[in-house]
Amino acid sequence: MSVIYCHNVAVVGGGISGLACARRLSQQGVRVTIFEAAPVLGGQIRTATVAGHLVDMGAEAVHTAAPGMSALISELGLADELITSNPSISWLWTERGLRRLPAGVGPSGPQRLLPILNSRMMSIGGLIRAGLEPLVPRRDIGSDIAVGEFVSQRFGCQVVERFVDPVLGSLHSGDVNRLSLRATAPDLAAVADARSSVILKRRGRQNGPTMSFATWVNGLTTLVERLSADTRIEVRTSTSIDSVTPMSDGRYEIRSTDGLVTRADAVVLAVPTRIAAELIRPFSQNAAEMLGHVRYASVATAVVAYPRALITKVRALTGTGLLVPSSRHRLLKAATFLSTKWPHLIDPTYALVRFSSGRVGEQEIDNLDDAALVARLHNDMQDATGITVKPTEYHVQRWPAAIPQLEVGHLELVAKIRANLESHPGLTLAGASYDGLGIAACVRSGERAALSCLAVPSQPSG
Ligand SMILES: Cc1cc2nc3c(=O)[nH]c(=O)nc-3n(C[C@H](O)[C@H](O)[C@H](O)COP(=O)(O)OP(=O)(O)OC[C@H]3O[C@@H](n4cnc5c(N)ncnc54)[C@H](O)[C@@H]3O)c2cc1C
Repeated sequence: MSVIYCHNVAVVGGGISGLACARRLSQQGVRVTIFEAAPVLGGQIRTATVAGHLVDMGAEAVHTAAPGMSALISELGLADELITSNPSISWLWTERGLRRLPAGVGPSGPQRLLPILNSRMMSIGGLIRAGLEPLVPRRDIGSDIAVGEFVSQRFGCQVVERFVDPVLGSLHSGDVNRLSLRATAPDLAAVADARSSVILKRRGRQNGPTMSFATWVNGLTTLVERLSADTRIEVRTSTSIDSVTPMSDGRYEIRSTDGLVTRADAVVLAVPTRIAAELIRPFSQNAAEMLGHVRYASVATAVVAYPRALITKVRALTGTGLLVPSSRHRLLKAATFLSTKWPHLIDPTYALVRFSSGRVGEQEIDNLDDAALVARLHNDMQDATGITVKPTEYHVQRWPAAIPQLEVGHLELVAKIRANLESHPGLTLAGASYDGLGIAACVRSGERAALSCLAVPSQPSG
């Protein structure tokens, strides 16, 4: 008997993960339908116009050195149009004012000690403790550990408070003492598993790939548009899926809230865990319960335009942005100086700045209307940089329950959930909530989901 492989896949969720998945399937001749609840594709990639410029309100840059990313960009014919961010410094807003983020400090702590020694951002005691890292006994981290706990063991708690919290914590809108080392800092986890010293291990790798961030002149929706340009993919926007049920022939029945019923050989759920939990409940109550354990942070971004002529003396704006440690208890989590960071956003009249706010467990942003939110964020910016003039234009985007918290044990949890669904080949989970935050991780997750669908035999319809 010949087996006809999966020819009809429903992808639920038209964010970057669902789109990457649909594209790979379509390239293999599979009939794909994307169901997207919102009126537009892209999920957490969305642009808006502020002071006449297209600016990103969700994801703002692709990391081109991430595995697979530059290959995809070339394949989509977008490499020549890439705009890379201007090289400049980032600021940390410390108790003693703005300080340059020392070179070699990544999301998971320092890779080099000398820039930290020179940064004057740590006490003498903190510096000595960090410098002892190569001598600190290397413990087994077991199945997982919080990134904050690990870095604190290796370098001392000042490194966690002053560097890891504002960089990695801000990126994940999370608590570094709960975020998983394996899920959020896999390079560091590998060093830990090898029982190496972080400093000594990294010293040998200083010429590794550099961080390179890029976008396009119309923002990251360029990527969304190009990924969805395949006319063989059927796209149903404004279509929210509220149930997936197993059929007796092994296929799946997908129902939307407006009564649309579709049958497919395979279903990819590229949606946040709280949505996926309900959709997989008919297949595994256990997996649905486990998915319910993933926490989320709600965040909001505001892009504001300052009149350029009135802010020429604000020295901070020579950098590409600033990060705010959670210990400062400010609403502002980070500010990106868009008109310094991106060559295409330089404007003779305005300086564009993007404010980020919202951390896990905080509800404050929900209690403020857009004008009040911008006023609070601007006040924090004023305290940090000394800017006095108020923004003349702004756009606010709220992202409720958007950033999944990849907390200790996350990878194990996701593996267990996937194992629970193994008896339903073709029912696949993809996206940031499972395989990691960020466009590059989501593309990889979507492409892996496509591969697993391709292995599903097609059932005779009828
Ligand atoms: C403010 C912000 C800034 C960020 N900055 C960056 C950055 O600079 N660089 C970077 O790489 N990453 C960044 N990220 C992270 C990155 O954007 C996300 O990790 C990624 O876009 C998530 O993609 P996804 O497809 O997994 O999920 P999503 O983008 O959330 O897509 C899921 C989709 O599913 C849809 N959906 C939900 N329920 C249903 C349903 N029942 N039926 C049908 N559809 C449904 C949703 O409407 C949504 O479109 C940022 C995120 C945010 C919020």
